[in-house]
Amino acid sequence: MEAIEQEIIALREQLHQHNYRYYIEDAPTISDYDFDHLLKKLETLEQENPQYADPNSPTQRVGGQVTKNFLNKPHRYPMYSLDNSYSKEELYQWEKRLKKIVGLDTAVQYTCELKFDGASINLRYQNGLLIQGLTRGDGQQGDEITANLKTISSIPIQLKGDYPETFEIRGEIVMPIAGFEALNKKRIEAGEPPYMNPRNTASGSLKLQDSRQVAKRPLLCFLYALAGEDLGIATQAEALESARSWGFDVPDSARLVDSIEGVFEYIAYWEKARADLPYEIDGIVIKVNRLDLQEQLGFTAKAPRWAISYKFKAEQVFTTLESVSYQVGRTGAITPVANLEPVLLSGTTVKRASLHNEDQILKLDLRIGDRVFVEKGGEIIPKIVGIDENFRGPLEDKVVFIHHCPDCNSLLEKQEGEAQHYCTNSNQCPTQIIGKIQHFISRKAMDIEGLGGETVALLYQNGLIENCADLYTLQFDQLLPLERMAEKSITNLLEGVEASKTKPFEKVLFALGIRYVGETVAKKLAEAFGSIDQLAAASIDQLVAVDEIGERIAQSVNDFFKQPYNIKLVSRLQDYGLKLVAQKRTTSHFLPLQNLRIVVSGVFKDFSREELKSTVAHFGGTLVSSVSSKTDLIIAGEGMGPSKLQKATDLGIPIINEVQFKERIS
Ligand code: AMP
Ligand code: ZN
Repeated sequence: MEAIEQEIIALREQLHQHNYRYYIEDAPTISDYDFDHLLKKLETLEQENPQYADPNSPTQRVGGQVTKNFLNKPHRYPMYSLDNSYSKEELYQWEKRLKKIVGLDTAVQYTCELKFDGASINLRYQNGLLIQGLTRGDGQQGDEITANLKTISSIPIQLKGDYPETFEIRGEIVMPIAGFEALNKKRIEAGEPPYMNPRNTASGSLKLQDSRQVAKRPLLCFLYALAGEDLGIATQAEALESARSWGFDVPDSARLVDSIEGVFEYIAYWEKARADLPYEIDGIVIKVNRLDLQEQLGFTAKAPRWAISYKFKAEQVFTTLESVSYQVGRTGAITPVANLEPVLLSGTTVKRASLHNEDQILKLDLRIGDRVFVEKGGEIIPKIVGIDENFRGPLEDKVVFIHHCPDCNSLLEKQEGEAQHYCTNSNQCPTQIIGKIQHFISRKAMDIEGLGGETVALLYQNGLIENCADLYTLQFDQLLPLERMAEKSITNLLEGVEASKTKPFEKVLFALGIRYVGETVAKKLAEAFGSIDQLAAASIDQLVAVDEIGERIAQSVNDFFKQPYNIKLVSRLQDYGLKLVAQKRTTSHFLPLQNLRIVVSGVFKDFSREELKSTVAHFGGTLVSSVSSKTDLIIAGEGMGPSKLQKATDLGIPIINEVQFKERIS
């Protein structure tokens, strides 16, 4: 074997192990930085030596495969659904039936597992390598989504330990609540409607056509069942344990209990503790532990007889639907909201429930006056899950989705394939105008100090601003007569507006609030085109050629710059002196500290703290406050702290003194 090939193989092996420690054991032994470094190294070697490419390399995790249509493939072992139970009584009944079938009258052992609320998948492994991943589909056939599944870090692409040559394993892809909320926050910032819940988002993520996009979704995979022939395994508990030893993420919440009483204890525990889980579950799955008994019990047409789910009662109440109102978002998206007769649910009074879109209203067939069931799932805003057929509102009070904007009365539009209605009168619709300016001044955009959301509304209502450009024309004397405006706050406001002129191009671009152009996209576009003029002139093809920019974003950017209103707006911003050109990276500039993370410790003869800071920045370095494995260099003055020194030595970080520092930058 060539030395290069050996090195590549060794690196892959190393990275597989680090992945395991990080994602499964949650106990990494190297820093993220060092990990990235190893991964980069492998990536480079693989690129230079394409003859050693391997679809199971850790570099393949980052994705890159685009699948237009997923292939439908049969399941070797059908993926059944589960029968549900909701009470102790039903569980007793279930046990009675199964004992009768197998002819047992002693206690039965069960495994109790959480019922993860996500999308189920089936993975096939051969010689320790992931060779196929399918969705559940209809249980008989599923979509092949192998490339997408490979991007999920907790799915091993190379097994460890003593695994069978060929086998299949099942699990659930879930999106943790925090990740879901972060994703939604980004969508809202980009002017997109938020996703409904983590479960749908998880299964939607698996069907994305570009696996690079999947790689960015915070997805986990929990495994719960093995399938195959002659696996040499006798119980479900053993199956879970073995899967764990091969490198799979088998949550340690699973328990083996000796009788149905143990099942009840498990249920009682998780009924409460589930509130603290970082992801959603919708119940417990109880499985007969012995596989020989499972075989005897077999399946009904729909579900195994040897397993049952116990569903938690979601906290549900019923109340009356009083009316439906419609909210207009900054991008014109219309969200229907149900106004309810106030009712207590999980300790809070609920007056409104989200209805998401027209389809939701149609599905529920809502009428004003209906008695509706309201439930609080993982989401913060409660939702209507059903109506009481016995208490319907009058037929003539059927909820009909509005045709006109509640704010500006213009005709709403709905694009094909989208669920959301939009008011497209964006430049004259008051809520949208205010929303857009509020977005413009927000922290992640222009971050205008001294100006808040309420003041924006006040300024608009008083006819002082109609768009973000108008902010730059505000005069002291105009503001003084306004309510709640003291001299001091006016000065702050005007100073804040003035200061925002130095914000870099990418921030201005994000602040414009172009649909689908969130923070990251704005950055990419700013980098790729360098100025607003170039961007405005770009064709769809040129836009799509930029990394991470898809058709949808390209179209939206293109549309934005086609509108005379927007062109005028941008040109005014240009006139007021906002940065609409990206900062040129001065490559000729001498940057001896480029890309270095530097810690400064102690006191210096020729530099004050501030001077050091700006000197480091001037020569391309970044000052960080504490020593970690990510630190690249330490500049030590007189009296460097002993603990810092120790840590730096332990981590092998180079330390230079003031004289050496000066040499380096001269
Ligand atoms: P249901 O969709 O209600 O019929 O329930 C069956 C589904 O529960 C399976 O297809 C899995 O997606 C899911 N599930 C979640 N956790 C587990 C688990 N621990 N064991 C078995 N199935 C589970
Ligand atoms: Zn409107």
